[in-house]
Amino acid sequence: MKRLGVFGSTGSIGRTCLQIAERFPDRYRVVALTARKSLDLLERQIRQFAPEVAVLQTDALADQLRDRLGRGTSVRVLSGEEGYRTAAGWETMDIMVAAMVGAAGLAPALAAIGAGKDIALANKETLVMAGSVVMEQARKAGVRILPVDSEHSAIFQCLAGSRKEDVSRLLLTGSGGPFRSWSPEAMKTVRLEDALRHPNWEMGRKITIDSSTLMNKGLEVIEARWLFDMPSNRIDVVIHPQSIVHSMVAYRDGSVIAQLGIPDMTAAVAYALSYPERLPLGQQTPDFFATSRLDFEPPDLDRFPCLALALQACDAGGTVPAVLNASNETAVEAFLQRKIGYCDIAGVVEAALNAHEPVAEPALEEIVDADHRARDFAAADIERRRRKP
Ligand code: NDP
Repeated sequence: MKRLGVFGSTGSIGRTCLQIAERFPDRYRVVALTARKSLDLLERQIRQFAPEVAVLQTDALADQLRDRLGRGTSVRVLSGEEGYRTAAGWETMDIMVAAMVGAAGLAPALAAIGAGKDIALANKETLVMAGSVVMEQARKAGVRILPVDSEHSAIFQCLAGSRKEDVSRLLLTGSGGPFRSWSPEAMKTVRLEDALRHPNWEMGRKITIDSSTLMNKGLEVIEARWLFDMPSNRIDVVIHPQSIVHSMVAYRDGSVIAQLGIPDMTAAVAYALSYPERLPLGQQTPDFFATSRLDFEPPDLDRFPCLALALQACDAGGTVPAVLNASNETAVEAFLQRKIGYCDIAGVVEAALNAHEPVAEPALEEIVDADHRARDFAAADIERRRRKP
């Protein structure tokens, strides 16, 4: 029996994880659930899975949840950053499913590592911001970081049984998003509704926008750089509109091993939970006759400047990826609130990167400081853009 802590349980990945726990009750017990503010859904999940601890972002929300659960409840309800950290080190938890969105995932992930817990990592922002610190602490603590992201899960599977020195390149595939074939002029007219409509994947709002700008692919390159200890010049992005090949590994003898599947996160989440076993999910396999073709093309860095910026940030290293991530989070949130236009997202990120003075081998405090400064800079830049006629 594996005891799970599902951080971000009310989100897209969190819900997928709980569906797996529900289907395999003899294998998984849920001991911790966390959300930001989705009180109703978290309450339903608590009633179904009876965890030992639950966390919400504010004291007020936690009070409401306690009221709803009543005096007799055995669930400990916590709040805020301290609450997430306490739950991350929860004694009975074996593995943390890190499925919060954004930089908020970093502190709980570090707390879990500090407490010796394995992590099934969906929250790529953790590694984008602080990959060097997180991987070093994980190595020292002897904990495993198991990838949930479908591309990284694919690479992890393609690497199985191989020697690191035989690997020549990692090939990260991506669908290209909804604007793959849009002209530069058409891109200037993108509305929120267009960007939220991903052709192949059902995901949370932030990653859906990131997927449309290809920032997500850039964040994934940085994530892969740390997860697989591979320099960025040996990681390629390959646009593959059908999303059937989830990623590939090229070896020095010219062989390429790919992992294929339908575009659904269930198998990737399940593999991180059950590794090295595979669960009898009964998932559909791709229908190769109906698909009939698999296309591959290079990414267009001119039309997708967010990807270009992310690749530059990956090469630069140090505090630069944290600035990329923080300014992107701020800009995407502003776009989701209709405060800026679609093309402003890349503009805000570029301005924040240009304004930043990088620190080469940063300590955690320097990373967090760079993150905060970048958020402030991006917020001011967004206001400037809004005031422009
Ligand atoms: P969602 O937006 O669907 O869910 C996010 C979850 O995190 C929710 O439970 C939300 O709570 C919680 N949350 C949000 N902000 C905070 C915060 N500041 N503090 C604490 N909890 C917070 O996101 P996804 O499930 O789509 O993505 C989660 C992570 O997984 C992201 O890092 C994403 O990049 C990664 N990922 C997602 C994939 C997908 O298919 N969705 C694929 C691969 C990676 P509440 O509901 O209360 O707001």
